[in-house]
Amino acid sequence: MKISGSNSVKPLSLYIHVPFCKKKCPYCDFFSVIDPFLIPAYVDGVCKEIQLGAGMTGSGCQALVHTVYLGGGTPSLLSVSQTAKILETVYQVFAVTPDAEITMEVNPGTVDAAYLSAIRQLGINRLSIGAQSFDSAKLSFLSRIHTRDQVFETLSGAVRAGFSNLGLDLMYALPQETSDAWQTDLDTALALQLPHLSCYMLTLEPGTPFYGQYKNGYFSPCDPDRRSDFFVHTSRVLENDGYCHYEVSSFAKSRQYRSNHNTHYWERGAYMGFGPSAHSFLPGVPPGPVGQRFGVRTAPGAGAEALPGIAGDAGPVRAWNMGDIRAWLDRLAVGGLPWEGHEILSPVQEMMERIMLGLRTDIGVDVNGLHREIRALMDRLAGQGLGVFFHHNSADFRAHRFRLTRSGLTCLDSIVDAIVRKIM
Ligand code: SF4
Repeated sequence: MKISGSNSVKPLSLYIHVPFCKKKCPYCDFFSVIDPFLIPAYVDGVCKEIQLGAGMTGSGCQALVHTVYLGGGTPSLLSVSQTAKILETVYQVFAVTPDAEITMEVNPGTVDAAYLSAIRQLGINRLSIGAQSFDSAKLSFLSRIHTRDQVFETLSGAVRAGFSNLGLDLMYALPQETSDAWQTDLDTALALQLPHLSCYMLTLEPGTPFYGQYKNGYFSPCDPDRRSDFFVHTSRVLENDGYCHYEVSSFAKSRQYRSNHNTHYWERGAYMGFGPSAHSFLPGVPPGPVGQRFGVRTAPGAGAEALPGIAGDAGPVRAWNMGDIRAWLDRLAVGGLPWEGHEILSPVQEMMERIMLGLRTDIGVDVNGLHREIRALMDRLAGQGLGVFFHHNSADFRAHRFRLTRSGLTCLDSIVDAIVRKIM
């Protein structure tokens, strides 16, 4: 059901993981399978899981859904009618705001103009297009299924379908990638004047084919100094062109084109994930009838001893779904929640996540509510790195809100490590 906003209910985001790909990319560690015959069963299963999820939040009426994100995998492998069935289920069982951001990840080479037009009619109003590059050699290295021309076809089909809120994913810092090659990708993207760009560095994730090739000496990854140079250059070039660098990898032409869904994650809002391997995060799930549905009884308060003064009580719950699609289907077939596990975050975990996620963004971290030792550490770090790693904005500083500069973002991991060492 679509309803108007209310102050008395908390915003909720929904993530729907569509775990199918035409082919596995050698760098990817997201869960997906290449068996399209499972798609019909998946669609039935995910609709059932959405219904179960709504039941857990009191028929969905205790929260207003303001973003829905179909991610993957490759959601654009679903047919229009399969996508419609999933979205209709969401609208039937959750309260969705009329201006909700409904995003779908689409991959060039899997969609045509008619498909894009049809999903626009379904209410999808934001597209994230997995281009990765316009360079044929880079696309080939990444084993992508699409060509440079298909990226442009997808973009023009999206614009003709009426999508004004859309963005591209681009990847850089590939082994031996030259500055010129990345600049050409950036120039091509800039010429398109898209509302949103996500620029990611290639990372070699353990367990992926690329990681094995790297370990076996087939290629050397881009070295850390070069990665920092790429990052700083990317940020500078895009900001000079009018983009706001609002999160480590995210750039938007204006506030209205920021990803509301991802911002909700970074601000630690509640979200429910559906589909194999999807995660859910429910802040402050109380003990009692609702909490018991999540398996929450009394929070252990772990970490309260490590940092005296932090009360241990029922904390936020994080849950993760089974990653095996058949096990996920089997669990749903008997009416069970397909969770593989869940944890109640301790106050220390909660505080760490708040710092880590806040520092990724241009919103930064408000240290006022943090434990005094962490606040003192943040004060010290910010004082030492003021104007270099932390923004020198006196209003922010007085308010104890710390934001990293571009150079600071290149040291994000080290800064977080320093904080973790202090806490743990
Ligand atoms: S298409 Fe996307 S989700 Fe699928 S394997 Fe490639 S990177 Fe991973």
